[in-house]
Amino acid sequence: MENSRQPEVDGMCDEKPIHLNGISRETFELFLEFMFGRYVDILCFHIDELSKFLRFCNMYQCSHAREFVISRISSTRYRFHPAKLINLAIKYHVRSIFPYAFQQLAETPITELTHAHRELMGNEVFLNVIYVQAVLDSHHRIVAVEEPKILMHSNECQDPTGCNEDWHAIWWNGMGRFLLDGRNPQLYDDAVKRFKELQFGHVSEGCKDLMFKILHQGAAFKHAQQFLSETCSFLVEKLVFEPEPPSS
Ligand SMILES: [Zn+2]
Repeated sequence: MENSRQPEVDGMCDEKPIHLNGISRETFELFLEFMFGRYVDILCFHIDELSKFLRFCNMYQCSHAREFVISRISSTRYRFHPAKLINLAIKYHVRSIFPYAFQQLAETPITELTHAHRELMGNEVFLNVIYVQAVLDSHHRIVAVEEPKILMHSNECQDPTGCNEDWHAIWWNGMGRFLLDGRNPQLYDDAVKRFKELQFGHVSEGCKDLMFKILHQGAAFKHAQQFLSETCSFLVEKLVFEPEPPSS
């Protein structure tokens, strides 16, 4: 009888391929390569392709493949524009790549962010990037002009007044300039590294060591990093939902 014959369904033979809507041949090849344990050189894949692959993994609940692609994206994250990584994180619920991307955006001059970048990261992230940059900029300027004071001079310090004056002047000429230089602004760590190479005039060796120790503890500097991570955590909680567990 006609009805007893097995119907020819997609995937039964080469003439009846499986059509996966929105999934390109390359994406499916990538999936097969992963499934059959062959080395996949993800470096040759465009981020849009990887993005489609993540969509595929989500759609078919292939959590192992998903973890694999995420780990490869993370290890080569420097290749991608942070706005794209943010887009990927929000769209495919990948929390782990968000903080790196947000940190990169916070360090990218606003003038280098195009309309396309803004579209990718979405308004909320974009507004937060502007807000964070404004706050960090103001914090930068405060740190640049308010040097940590030498509260107690070392025993060997022969001239505490000269020591204070020179510390103040060298801070302004060193840290002040490094942090505020519009053409070549330095991050805190780099600024401190260059600052330590300067000549310190009447600042005694003991006082210098003491103050460098305080700089290394980084109380003032750490505020900026803490503020950035708190803003980032807030956005992750709000925008990047945890992937839904597979339904049983
Ligand atoms: Zn001193």
